[in-house]
Order: sequence, then C-alpha cells, then structure tokens
Amino acid sequence: MYIYVLGSAAGGGFPQWNCNCPNCHGVRTGTINAKPRTQSSIAVSENGVDWILLNASPDIRQQLFEFKAAQPARKLRDTGITSVILMDSQLDHTTGLLTLREGCPMNVWCTEMVHQDLTSGFPVFNMLKHWNGGLQYHEINPKQAFKIDGFESLEFIPLIIKSAAPPYSPHRNDPHDGDNIALIIKDHKTQKQLFYAPGLGKIDDQIMQIMQSSDCVMIDGTLWTDDEMQQTGVGKKTGREMGHLYISGEGGSLSYLNQLSTPKKVLIHINNTNPILNENSSQFAELKANNVEVAYDGMQIEL
Ligand SMILES: [Zn+2]
Ligand SMILES: [Zn+2]
Repeated sequence: MYIYVLGSAAGGGFPQWNCNCPNCHGVRTGTINAKPRTQSSIAVSENGVDWILLNASPDIRQQLFEFKAAQPARKLRDTGITSVILMDSQLDHTTGLLTLREGCPMNVWCTEMVHQDLTSGFPVFNMLKHWNGGLQYHEINPKQAFKIDGFESLEFIPLIIKSAAPPYSPHRNDPHDGDNIALIIKDHKTQKQLFYAPGLGKIDDQIMQIMQSSDCVMIDGTLWTDDEMQQTGVGKKTGREMGHLYISGEGGSLSYLNQLSTPKKVLIHINNTNPILNENSSQFAELKANNVEVAYDGMQIEL
C-alpha cells in the first residue's frame, strides 16, 4: 500500500491566512524552522497509479498539482483519483469536492450522517448534480467493512468515533454514530495495515488494540495541550470540546503511542498553534526522541 500525505495541517492550514500567532507569523516571515502545510488529506493506493482520497480539503487543487503520481496523463482529460472517502462532513475535509467538479462523475464514500449534512447544511451533492452526473454516493455502514471497485487488495474497516457534527450541520447538537469515523485499511497483498484517525477525541482499549496490530498509525496531532487555543488567544474551546485529544502529558496521545511497540507512528491534522510545527522546539525534539513523526505535505509511506 502506498500512502501519500497531500496535506498535514488542521483547518485553516499553516500559516492560516489571517493569523499572527507565533507559528503563523514565524513561518510567514521565515523566522522559525517550520514547513508550511495545507489542510489535511491523504491518498492511498495499491498500485501507485489509482488513488483514493481520504477527505477532500479546500487546498486540493494545489495538493494535486504537487502530487505528480495522481496525473498519469494517459489521455487528454485524466486523473489517478477514482474515489473519495470522507471521514466526516467538516468543511476543511469536504469543500475540496467543489474543486473536483471538472472530474465528475466522482465516487464518494461516506456514512449516511455525512451524506445528510452534504445534502442539507452544505448541499454539495445537490449542487454538483449539474456537473456530468456529479458525486456518486456510496454509503459506508460505520459498522461494516467495505471494498472499492478497482482496489482488489484493499479492505476498509470503519470505526465509529464519538464527536460532534460540524457547526453548520442541522444535527450539530444531536450526535449520531457515523458523524465521524476512523479507518483501518488492510492491504491483503502485503498483509500490512494502516490506522487513519485524523480526528480522535479519546483513545480506549479497542483503539489501542487496533493501533498495536497496525503497521502504521496516522492519528490526530491537532493540539499539543488541551487549552492551546486559549493559551495562544486564538480561540475559546478546549481540544476535547472540538473532538481532538491533546498530545502531551498525562492522558495525552503520546503517552498511548509510547505503549505501542509495532507501528510506525505519525501525527497528522496539526493545528497552526501547535509548537511541534517548529522543528527547533523542545516539543518537536520530544516527539523525535519517542520515535513519533510529524506528517508534512508530500510525505510518502509504503506498507
Ligand atoms: Zn479538520
Ligand atoms: Zn496561527
């Protein structure tokens, strides 16, 4: 299985266009050792030619320009992207669908709850009907594994993640199974497994078991501390209120990752306030010392 990181930042990207927090200001002015990052999305493939997107970020046009393997150029109009899987209906994970309109019809796999949001609060399915058949909806039952045509060796196993629907959702305050999922992706040819969870509010025994039996885990690295948004003055909510478990300290994701012996460990969906973006920071050094990598745009992994 080939994994390509299209974007590694949380909503807003890095730097965020209207932000002057120390990280955003620092990367914009070149005064800190940090890489700019687009909003989170990865692509997976079993043959390196046909790819599935996991989320479609608003930065997708630039991401696909950088991602040369996604344009095999076999004919006048072409793409290696055949399907999109959505982990939830957040705007930073779905607005890229609008940019894919020239390539419709496009297969989109999502849960019924996500499809409801994308036909009501943000009706992108309805809007794109006017583009050559639009988005073809394939329902993910969040309790059932699924396969995608053309990807014979890959199996996708969803996992229900407890978190709220986006602010625009008609059922924002009425959580349902399937509002957010994580994915186990098994490659039956190589016998390797990826666990992908860009939004993870809690790590329980079941998730620990899944991570221990994976070859690579790519999980939520949004915030270093739970109150980071308040500390930097950019927001009022804690990480956990937004469905993101912090990395550091007791109960943080790093303490769980450190209990795993098997997998390659990667943090993704990094918020622009997070000190791990600065590669000269003590926080970045702490991750490195613990064998935890920080995803960057263009990162490639082969399993
Ligand atoms: Zn996000
Ligand atoms: Zn910022």
